Amino acid sequence: MNRSSVNIIGAGLCGSLLSIILARRGIKVTVLERQADPRTMQAAAGRSINLVLSARGNRALQYAGIFEHIEPLLVPMKARLIHHEDGTTELQSYGQREGEQIYSVSRAELNRILIQTAENDYNVRVRFQQEAVSYYPEEAVLRIRDHEKSADYDVKAGPIIGADGAGSVIRRAFTDAATIGPGETLLEHSYKELSIPSNADGSFQLEQDVLHIWPRGGFMLIALPNPGGDFTLTLFMPSSGKNSFAEIDSDDKVAEFFDRNFADVVPLIDNLIDNYSQNPVGILGTVRCKHWHDGDKMLLIGDAAHAVVPFHGQGMNLAFEDCVVLDQVLENPDADWMTVFEVYEAEQLANANAIADMALENYVEMRDTVRNPKHMLRKQLSFELERRLPNRFIPRYSMVMFHDEIPYAIAQERGAVQQKLLEELTDGVESIEQIDLDSAAAEVEKRLPPLH
Ligand SMILES: Cc1cc2nc3c(=O)[nH]c(=O)nc-3n(C[C@H](O)[C@H](O)[C@H](O)COP(=O)(O)OP(=O)(O)OC[C@H]3O[C@@H](n4cnc5c(N)ncnc54)[C@H](O)[C@@H]3O)c2cc1C
Repeated sequence: MNRSSVNIIGAGLCGSLLSIILARRGIKVTVLERQADPRTMQAAAGRSINLVLSARGNRALQYAGIFEHIEPLLVPMKARLIHHEDGTTELQSYGQREGEQIYSVSRAELNRILIQTAENDYNVRVRFQQEAVSYYPEEAVLRIRDHEKSADYDVKAGPIIGADGAGSVIRRAFTDAATIGPGETLLEHSYKELSIPSNADGSFQLEQDVLHIWPRGGFMLIALPNPGGDFTLTLFMPSSGKNSFAEIDSDDKVAEFFDRNFADVVPLIDNLIDNYSQNPVGILGTVRCKHWHDGDKMLLIGDAAHAVVPFHGQGMNLAFEDCVVLDQVLENPDADWMTVFEVYEAEQLANANAIADMALENYVEMRDTVRNPKHMLRKQLSFELERRLPNRFIPRYSMVMFHDEIPYAIAQERGAVQQKLLEELTDGVESIEQIDLDSAAAEVEKRLPPLH
């Protein structure tokens, strides 16, 4: 089969990892990236500075043979630390089994290492300041603007892989519902990043091995640790209306809003007002497509195919999983690009839709449900059922974050059955001692087949 070369558009997290994986198969890979080389410049403010890496992402990095380069960047987080309005805190463990933790990782550092490895170890040609400005599906031609030379040129798809992120120019060229059928849904909430610097001696001002959440019902603040002792704070809230970015439109209102809602954080932030006014508000949304490929000419991957909201910390993890799934399809030497794209899409599309739904649901959990004592009771019961029947009952959060062998679609399906059961078992109950755990386990065995 002729699968000798490919052009990838976008040297972001997905495009650069994919370039490594494809080059390892002997495919000649060229990557065209709009931005300047990130190894020569500071990361742009406002884009998420650090990300949650979990099992699916870890597995992909191991699969590509580069985990050892990434490992030193990782800051483990074993639990959520909830900061209630009255100033009290509550630790909510993410998992209960050995190694069940998630990791904070710097987006910029991760991206730099991926690009460096692609170029140095796998001979991938990465060209910067090459912006895809339009794609013509009929001719399967991509117009590129070379910002270095201030000139345009065309690339013929043979094939083209669009890893150009949530605002993909390539995806947006397909307006015909019968082909890619893209749907973009903007969330009515946006985000802004702030930061908590380290202490003078480089130590953390807050507990370092947890993800901090200040849930406030309609909005929330979270903090992820960085290796340098600082934290990246992200405020998620409605774009307009009450308690929104639009409403907080002056320095006085920023100060008043933070004093009222996050009084314990204010003294930790270095110059809150400047921090707030200098950093941009970012939009969030979900992209769902009917198809991800146009014959054997074009494939969308990563956020370009399926951007999801960040509340399950899975966008990058899913994008990395995409790379592994695609590579496994390529193992069949007889499959041409068309077959590869078809099989890949059939494997992964339902999974992307499932995590898109679960990520939206998790926003409500993080900003609101975590404050409810019933939530803690259900979590306690989930862990107990997992201890008793580890091959049948695994909390949905754990299936998504720690079990890369369980597809997202299965996690969603089993998670719905489990949630219903947990609601029934905790109805009218205040503590786990009031629940008949033997009959709860029997009910699990009745409703959930064993996992393979
Ligand atoms: C606030 C926030 C927090 C997040 N937190 C997490 C998290 O904790 N965990 C997690 O797993 N995911 C998280 N995500 C999601 C994650 O950032 C994305 O899923 C991930 O970056 C997708 O990688 P990608 O390569 O597909 O897209 P991107 O990372 O967006 O990369 C796209 C690349 O294409 C380039 N490009 C774009 N347009 C063009 C063009 N026209 N021509 C050429 N090049 C182009 C861009 O410059 C970029 O380099 C978060 C997202 C946000 C917004």
